[in-house]
Amino acid sequence: MSLDIQKIRSEFPILDQQVHGKPLVYLDNAATTQKPQLVIDAVNDVYTQYNSNIHRGVHHLSNVCTQAFEDARIKVQRFINAEHSHEVIFTRGTTESVNLIAHSFGDVFLKEGDEVIVSQLEHHSNIVPWQMLEQRKGITLKVIPINDQGELMLEELDALITEKTRLVAVAHISNALGTINPIKTIIDKCHQRDIPVMIDGAQAVQHVAVDVQALDCDFYVFSGHKLYGPTGIGVLYGKEKWLNQMTPYQGGGEMIQTVSFEGTTFNELPFKFEAGTPDYSGAIGLGAAIDYVTNIGVEKIAAYEHELLEYGTARLEAIPQMNIYGTAAEKASVISFLVGNIHPYDMGMMLDKMGLAVRTGHHCAQPLMQRYNIPGTVRASFAVYNTKEEIDQLVEGVLKVSRLFG
Ligand code: PMP
Repeated sequence: MSLDIQKIRSEFPILDQQVHGKPLVYLDNAATTQKPQLVIDAVNDVYTQYNSNIHRGVHHLSNVCTQAFEDARIKVQRFINAEHSHEVIFTRGTTESVNLIAHSFGDVFLKEGDEVIVSQLEHHSNIVPWQMLEQRKGITLKVIPINDQGELMLEELDALITEKTRLVAVAHISNALGTINPIKTIIDKCHQRDIPVMIDGAQAVQHVAVDVQALDCDFYVFSGHKLYGPTGIGVLYGKEKWLNQMTPYQGGGEMIQTVSFEGTTFNELPFKFEAGTPDYSGAIGLGAAIDYVTNIGVEKIAAYEHELLEYGTARLEAIPQMNIYGTAAEKASVISFLVGNIHPYDMGMMLDKMGLAVRTGHHCAQPLMQRYNIPGTVRASFAVYNTKEEIDQLVEGVLKVSRLFG
């Protein structure tokens, strides 16, 4: 059964507005998605009906709020099919999740001379935390290169792995190119050599079904705000065996069992990694977003977005002097492009005047831009509420701008 996109659109109040006198066409979903009313209501309900700090209270509101927060954890657990709910740690987002792993896994398992492997298409948030460990601990960061299509050159991975490799950390889907990486192959390859794998799923959970047990990944991280959920909330999934051995990331309330000046003992999972008052309204909103996506069906969303990707690619490709960056065989609904030598900022600003919201620049993937020797791209990224008519408007807009620039 096909999706009723007009009904879906009507569930996102923000979409119904004009920008510069033109109907908004929001094609910046890889940066953040818009929120359905159900998510807005879930957060609103926290503050209008049962807001209270969680875990420590005996009173009614605190119990209701704690229950809703822990229900949200179970929703995440089911969504990614984690074996245990205590393997789901709430963080501020993908960035904080990677930093937590770099810090706490790094603390225990990385020493001078050890190696971590990432790829050339990573977001800065899966590069810089490891570079900070290079500085702090003297580890070495190695990089899986990509081919011209924007696919990982997996044959290089075998040569990069040595007896000093302690972790491989790669994106599931590239935010700048849309490439879907063969993460199951990477995980299997690494596990044959007892190397754990971290997957950055920031661009994946909203586009493809994720089963962390089937993947057998050691860590899987993502952000709520790209999954139709609130900002400021994200997830770190980690296998219990790693999380139990890792040191806490931050110290404070909730992550302790007992504190005295003679010594402190730490709480069990997941609380060991959730110091301080967590973003419980965000977590509850994320739980609602997961309900929303699950009710539509991730597979249906993926199939529809793939239609948009194919339609958009065919239409944009027909524009003279069009260069699409990222032409991998396996792609999610991201189209990065440049037209002739029109600077991406000029293109983006002129499209904005027509009500078209696209992202321009390096997309927090400067090493990837260096690979293609370009300053950045214009990126259109689609979500379930986008339509072919909106893609037509994008194509019209791009044509107008390219005519203007001659
Ligand atoms: N990794 C990827 C692949 C991303 O696309 C992003 C967000 N653009 C991040 C990490 C960082 O996510 P956040 O800013 O939500 O922490």
